[in-house]
Amino acid sequence: MDFTLSKEQQDIVQAARRFARGEFPPRALEFDRQEKFDLAIWQKACELGFVGVFIEEKYGGAGYGFFEHCLINEEFWAVEPGMAAQVLSSTFGAELIQLFGSEAQKESLLPKLVAGEAMMGTAITEPDAGCDVTGAVTSAVRDGDDWVLNGSKMFTTNGTVADVLLVFCLTDPDEASRHRRHSFLLVPTGTPGYRAVKIRGKMGIRASDTAEVSFKDVRVPAENLVGTRSEGFYQLMAFFNRTRLHISAQAVGLARAALEDAIRHTRDRRQFGAPLASFQATQFKLAEMATHIRAARNLYYEAAWKADQGDIDHGLVAMAKWYAARVAVDCADEAVQMHGGYGYIDEYRVQRLYRDAKILEIYEGTREIEKLIIARSLLGRNGGR
Ligand SMILES: Cc1cc2nc3c(=O)[nH]c(=O)nc-3n(C[C@H](O)[C@H](O)[C@H](O)COP(=O)(O)OP(=O)(O)OC[C@H]3O[C@@H](n4cnc5c(N)ncnc54)[C@H](O)[C@@H]3O)c2cc1C
Repeated sequence: MDFTLSKEQQDIVQAARRFARGEFPPRALEFDRQEKFDLAIWQKACELGFVGVFIEEKYGGAGYGFFEHCLINEEFWAVEPGMAAQVLSSTFGAELIQLFGSEAQKESLLPKLVAGEAMMGTAITEPDAGCDVTGAVTSAVRDGDDWVLNGSKMFTTNGTVADVLLVFCLTDPDEASRHRRHSFLLVPTGTPGYRAVKIRGKMGIRASDTAEVSFKDVRVPAENLVGTRSEGFYQLMAFFNRTRLHISAQAVGLARAALEDAIRHTRDRRQFGAPLASFQATQFKLAEMATHIRAARNLYYEAAWKADQGDIDHGLVAMAKWYAARVAVDCADEAVQMHGGYGYIDEYRVQRLYRDAKILEIYEGTREIEKLIIARSLLGRNGGR
């Protein structure tokens, strides 16, 4: 398979790199320390066309594939992961709306996301339902022409800043199959009964908003149901098969940043009368990092390219996500090690990279869940039993 980027894709990469390098570094330390963000940067990214490029042209997007969205993720994350996360998560859920939403939902929401007039998020995780999403108990009950929501969600990205959330709700608790009990509802965050509390003290991606949200008799119209009732679990799996590609690209970007910092520091820093980079032990580390990064990129390129051809390969997507996240964590660790004590201080980007990397092995499928998916793709659903 030939993954040489087209001229247009190379232009996207160059433009994304220029934007991130210009906008992110001056504010990164401040945002990380204060756990905040300046939405003007997100709006600028929207104006320049970096946000929601996978959204169809008729809804205001560029009509590119997930591949191009991945390229932008990689470039943004190769500069400052926390800020990249805040900018690019503003469409988190649009993939699902594009796949399963009604024409009216697409027309009212997608153009605003692309234009930087609205932000969204997707709330699945709950205090007692993480990896096992079928355990979600936030309920939505039909009452006349409305759905009424009650419950709470944990770790919702953009919970305090989003205009609308895509919420995974228990709509059919009596269905025999636990895979047919949930549905997605679009919930405007301005609806009475909605409450979001920002979670502080995150290890990494601290510029990105994460919240605990709750719904108390939140009433939304029946037409806010996304797609077919009780199909939520299957919609979610289809959604994750797209968004996990983005995470793989984010991980490759972060690992690249770690390698870049490691090369710069080991060239500059002298010990025992020579640059650290001249020691073979350092060279072996750099060689291993570069090779793993390339392998991780090839995995996500292949998975994203196939996805854009309509060929979703669950096992391959899981491999790309698990492997790239592992590479990011390992590269950040090695890069800190090569910085010695300086790597322990937040004035050095590498310290942030070390902290930012860990989330890649947790959200949108922990590394254990990704490995279970890979194993199932080898052994079948029953795991060889
Ligand atoms: C910064 C941040 C942003 C997030 N953003 C969002 C968001 O926007 N929307 C959203 O819905 N969620 C979001 N999450 C939540 C995230 O997706 C969950 O934390 C993740 O799915 C894991 O769920 P959990 O934390 O409940 O862990 P648990 O499910 O309790 O898992 C704990 C550990 O047990 C392991 N484990 C669980 N089951 C198995 C098994 N069967 N076999 C082997 N090991 C297993 C896991 O791999 C993990 O290591 C976010 C989380 C963070 C930290």
